[in-house]
Order: sequence, then structure tokens, then C-alpha cells
Amino acid sequence: MIILITGGAGFIGANLIKNLLETTNHSVINIDKVSYSFNLKLFDNLEQKQLQRYKFFKVNLCDFDYLSKVISSSNPDCIMHLAAESHVDKSIDDPSIFVDSNIVGTKNLLEAARIFHKELSPEKRESFRFHHISTDEVFGSLGNNGKFNEKSPYSPRSPYSASKAASDHLVRAWSYTYNLPILISNCSNNFGPLQYPEKLIPKVILSALNQNPIEIYGDGLNIRDWIYIEDHIDALKKVLFSSKPGKTYCIGGSSEKSNLEVVKIICNKLDIVRPINSSYKKLIKFVKDRPGHDYRYAIDSNSILNDLNWRPKITFEEGIIKTINWYIENLDWFNEGNKKEINLITKRQGILDDQ
Ligand code: NAD
Repeated sequence: MIILITGGAGFIGANLIKNLLETTNHSVINIDKVSYSFNLKLFDNLEQKQLQRYKFFKVNLCDFDYLSKVISSSNPDCIMHLAAESHVDKSIDDPSIFVDSNIVGTKNLLEAARIFHKELSPEKRESFRFHHISTDEVFGSLGNNGKFNEKSPYSPRSPYSASKAASDHLVRAWSYTYNLPILISNCSNNFGPLQYPEKLIPKVILSALNQNPIEIYGDGLNIRDWIYIEDHIDALKKVLFSSKPGKTYCIGGSSEKSNLEVVKIICNKLDIVRPINSSYKKLIKFVKDRPGHDYRYAIDSNSILNDLNWRPKITFEEGIIKTINWYIENLDWFNEGNKKEINLITKRQGILDDQ
């Protein structure tokens, strides 16, 4: 199979590509605009023969003509759409880029996929899938009780979640109106290696390792349902390879923790693996809350458990140790910058026939 992945230079996309090259014989086409958060450490430890099944195109989803050319020349069997502006704080400072990438970009990708899909042989048309990777944030904020599931109403509250909600609606519209065979998954908060340190867990780990203040919004009592990246990837593969077109699945880690709990767990682990004079908890500093900060997200994953026999396998404790170790091993890379990695990505840069 040829799997075309958008956003493969980001956290989840990079881990997904690495996993697909290591555990399957499929070929992977990565299209990404390669913005500030790009992450190319995915190439570490990959064998040459795995890399031969990988190609990269630097594409901004807002450039419809180039995007269409790359899709038709790549001839994919399926598309996994992960490219998005993904940081809530950035969306509050500058919502425009979120509308461009997440809404207009998704519309362009759907259109390019629809045109490509229409021309396929009946057999390939039948098996083609457009898998849209989305977030639980589209459902808004929970109180102390209840969980989101596939029937939860949409109620996004930040520019980021509103743009993701819009993209979910567009994907369903292309399914109903144009018969594009789509899949949607809405996942809870991911953590693991390769995550850009603007997000809570890597930010806390790197602040602590550099002995900088560990900043927590508000009272730190906002709750997220954390999932380790490998469990999410496992779920994505099950959804893509085994579910019926048109399905939506909610994916959660069944591991609810407040931000303050997460920070304290990280500090306790670091106190053991990287002891300093006092506990890392001394670095904790509460700062002004983010506007419109959602209180709680939690996912009921029963549907994907019943249909596809997926459940998370890695506990928060296990995942956080792997994550902390990875950031300790790669501390220089973050401090030094990631410029040399760009050589690796351009080595596998794809060229279109007419270029
Ligand atoms: P990320 O920010 O690490 O990566 C996103 C990638 O998309 C980046 O490499 C970026 O360059 C690329 N991109 C953005 N706009 C683009 C455009 N216009 N054209 C081409 N490429 C573009 O994000 P992530 O955490 O890896 O998230 C990936 C997807 O999963 C997103 O759609 C996000 O909404 C969704 N998601 C993330 C989480 C999470 O906890 N990280 C949870 C649920 C769902």
C-alpha cells in the first residue's frame, strides 16, 4: 500500500511514519509545510531499506495546485490527514493561520482527494480511505462527571478546537455529498517522544532539566485524559486498516490527570533519575490562566474497544518514564537546534515528473 500522510514532520505524524516503516511493508509519502515545530528525528535508527519506502514533499495545504499534483503523482491507496496548526495558545494569539491550515487546508485536501478518487478504478475506489485525525477538544469542556463519545455534540471553545471542529464537519460533508470514503478519529491528549516543547509535558520536562521555572496555568486543576503516543498509533492503524468507511471513533487513554498531578509526577521521576539539590517541585510556578481554558476532557473508548478490540496498553507511569528518558537523551538536540536533521529529510525529497 502507499499511505500518504499529511503533517508527518509533526509529533504524531513523525511517530506514525516511523512505526509504519518499522512494522509494515507499506510505502509512506509525507507531505508537510515544515513549520517551526518540524521534527525529523524520526529518521534515527531507521534502516536504509525502510527509508527507501519513504518520500517527502514540502507542501503547504493552502497551495491547492501543488497539493493536487503531489497527490495524483503519488497515487496513494489512502490518506491520513494529520497536518494542522495544533497549539491552543498560538490559536488565541493568531487565529488566522488556524483557519488557513485547519479549515482551508482541509477543504483543499478533500477536494484534491475527491478529484483523485473519482478517477480510480472501481476496485481502488472501493478500498480508498481518507482518515481525518482529530481531537476530543471539538466537544468542548466537561464538568466533573461524564465522558465524550461518538455521539457527543460539538461545542468547541478555542480558535484551535473550532477550526478542528470545522474540519471534521467538512470531512463528513465530503463523505455525504461526494461519497468520499472517510474515517474520523477524535483522540485525547497525546504524550511521548518527539513532541515539540510548547505542549505541557515536554515543556515541563525541559524546563525542569534546564532548572527553569515550571509554569502551570491557573490552579493547575484542569484535567486531561492522557494517552501514550504508541497507543494512539495502534488505534489509528486499527481504524485505518479494519474499520468500515464512514465510521468515527473516539480514542482515549483512560488516564485522567490534572495538570498539577502531571507536573508532580514528572518532578518525582526526575528527582530519582536526575537528582539535584532540592526537589524539582520547588521550580513550580502558578501563572495567569489561559483565556477560556477548558476544565476537563475525558473519552469513553468503548466503541473502538467493541468494534476493533483496541484498548490502551501503556500506563501513564510507563509512558512518562519512556518520555522523560527520551528527552534526557535528546536534550542537546533541543538546545542545539535541529538544523542538521533537515539534510536527512531533503535526501528523501520527492520530485514531481514535471519539475
Ligand atoms: P504538530 O503541531 O506536532 O504537527 C502538525 C504538523 O502539521 C506540523 O509538522 C506542521 O508543519 C504541519 N502543518 C500545519 N499546517 C500545515 C499546512 N498548512 N500544510 C502542511 N503542513 C502543515 O501536531 P501533532 O500533535 O502531531 O498533531 C497532529 C494532528 O493530530 C493534528 O491534526 C491535531 O489536531 C491532532 N491531535 C493531536 C493531539 C495531541 O495531543 N497532540 C490529540 C488529538 C488530535
